[in-house]
Amino acid sequence: MTLRRRVVNNIVNSQKNIVIASHSGFCYGVKRAVETTKKLKKDHPDKNIYILGELIHNSDVISELEQLGIKTVLELENPAKENSICVIRSHGASIDLINEIKKMGYIVVDLTCLDVKKVQDTAINLVSEGYFLLILGHKIHPEVIAIEQNAKKYALNKEDVLVIGSLDELKQNEELLKNKKIGIVIQTTQKIEFLKEVVDYLIDKTKDLKIANTICHSTYLRQNEAKELGKRSDLMVVAGSKKSANTTHLAEILSKITPTLHIESEKELDNFKEIIKKSKNIGITAGASTPDYIIEKIKHKLETI
Ligand code: SF4
Repeated sequence: MTLRRRVVNNIVNSQKNIVIASHSGFCYGVKRAVETTKKLKKDHPDKNIYILGELIHNSDVISELEQLGIKTVLELENPAKENSICVIRSHGASIDLINEIKKMGYIVVDLTCLDVKKVQDTAINLVSEGYFLLILGHKIHPEVIAIEQNAKKYALNKEDVLVIGSLDELKQNEELLKNKKIGIVIQTTQKIEFLKEVVDYLIDKTKDLKIANTICHSTYLRQNEAKELGKRSDLMVVAGSKKSANTTHLAEILSKITPTLHIESEKELDNFKEIIKKSKNIGITAGASTPDYIIEKIKHKLETI
């Protein structure tokens, strides 16, 4: 996997040492989705291009796409207008949904991230082999919905697929897993700690436990680097949408290490002037859907406070 590496940007002035994590901002899956969608419009100006759901959790990027004539929709017109393309975003969609969209008359351009595809395939393989499938993630996240729907399509028994968002949820549903062989996949942007606690809990409850650590490499690098940076920082700033799962996880992880601010834009820093003034070493990281220019604006604002 090619990951854009940012040159570590170290700003030292008389008061502060501000470091931007090298693995922050757009991941390769998001970058590919944004660039390919823009190119699609450039190459086919005559076609109507729709994205089903936000391409990424960033309102600036969504507006930029709108200005280019690329529409973000929650529902697709049925039947499709002539010459219409539907883009499937990096979170993916279920096989049934993609087939339905094609039936409506859209040309489908599937930009599901390859790492998300891997989770979908692993989940299908596990249920096909007769495993009770545990999906660790947010029930209402589009990535998880697609994984669950695909797995149910191929499961011998639909009841043998369960999404859990916490160990407590697993405990509440433990009866379902009794005498079953269990397979586990995890949402690409989850925390490794969640997988560890579930595995630890199940390890002596079944003789056949198949674990697929499907957290993507980009998330792994981003979270690990953020933890290290957090240990060296008096304050961490996490940039990105509150709707973004990977950004929220970063903030959760870091708040256990050092004081952490989760903000969507530099303007919010005005609410935290006191703690910023007191902090000498400040680290910045950002979720996979945060553009570079937002990170730069945050760095600049921190320098001026
Ligand atoms: S966070 Fe990971 S899985 Fe999601 S789009 Fe980026 S690289 Fe792909």
